[in-house]
Amino acid sequence: MATMRVAQVTRPKGPLEIVERPVPDVKPGWVQIKVQACGICHSDSLVKEGMWPGVEYPRVPGHEVAGVIDAVGSGVSDFAPGQRVGVGWHGGYCGHCDHCRRGEFFACVTGQVTGISFDGGYGEYMVAPVSAVARMPADLPPVEAAPLMCAGITTFNALRNSGARPGDVAAVLGLGGLGHLGVQYAAKMGFHTVGIARGKDKEPLARKLGASVYIDSQAQDPAVELQKLGGAKVILATVTSGDAMSAVQGGLAVNGTLLVVGAADSLQVSPIMLLMGCRSVKGWYSGTSIDSEDTLAFSSRTGVRSMNETFPLERANEGYERMMSGKARFRVVLTMG
Ligand SMILES: [Zn+2]
Ligand SMILES: [Zn+2]
Repeated sequence: MATMRVAQVTRPKGPLEIVERPVPDVKPGWVQIKVQACGICHSDSLVKEGMWPGVEYPRVPGHEVAGVIDAVGSGVSDFAPGQRVGVGWHGGYCGHCDHCRRGEFFACVTGQVTGISFDGGYGEYMVAPVSAVARMPADLPPVEAAPLMCAGITTFNALRNSGARPGDVAAVLGLGGLGHLGVQYAAKMGFHTVGIARGKDKEPLARKLGASVYIDSQAQDPAVELQKLGGAKVILATVTSGDAMSAVQGGLAVNGTLLVVGAADSLQVSPIMLLMGCRSVKGWYSGTSIDSEDTLAFSSRTGVRSMNETFPLERANEGYERMMSGKARFRVVLTMG
């Protein structure tokens, strides 16, 4: 029997253990993927630290997968061995629940999440339902493509669905793993792009990524500065601090949206601010496999790339700790030997 190495979590708060396991059989409607690279996302802590209800252990985390189809199950006609693909957070949909019938595939009642509901990409092979699989452009190396499957799609898809139009002011709050991609996407989409972060030292990076305006939230009031530009049609909030999000709401334009993609605990919003300008606060889910395909294709064409630190699979724990430290510049990616 063919075997593979994976990094698995056997119990909540346990370490990532490198073990040898049989390569999983491919089921009808699923594909088997030879993983080339997998990003380590902060959401993987939900599995590792046991914060997601109902996870069955041992579990292999990882939902920023880049690889090559190795085998396809019966009934799969759209993918073939040798094809480059990616798998993200969205772990597929049923196609017949009420949400799916309304086209809201992301909200499918099965709620399948890659690396949580089934084993993910911290390993040499994985299997995934075909509805979770995205085609990958030939010119995106696996390490560059992997983080686009979560950090990339989340910011790309949020911005393109924000209601802002080319030329509008789009601000990106935070310049970390999500934010450094958000600024690039906003600039390439033709928005008047504003980067907001703490400290003057982040300005050169923000400008290099495509921001035409930089706001240092320690030295300036972001709300005041954004209003000088006419207000932001969208503020993409990538930080995990609710206070930082609350502090920028006054910078929204009329009909502007504070679009939340950072998992903060709570957030203070002024009802007066909302109702006086028909403003809104909205969350954004990452997206489905077709959104991933759009993200990859757009990134390939426009040159949007994640800045990454790589670790071999054997050093998964080190890579995970590096990601959790918040010091990585900017995404951590595991590579398979
Ligand atoms: Zn993620
Ligand atoms: Zn469904």
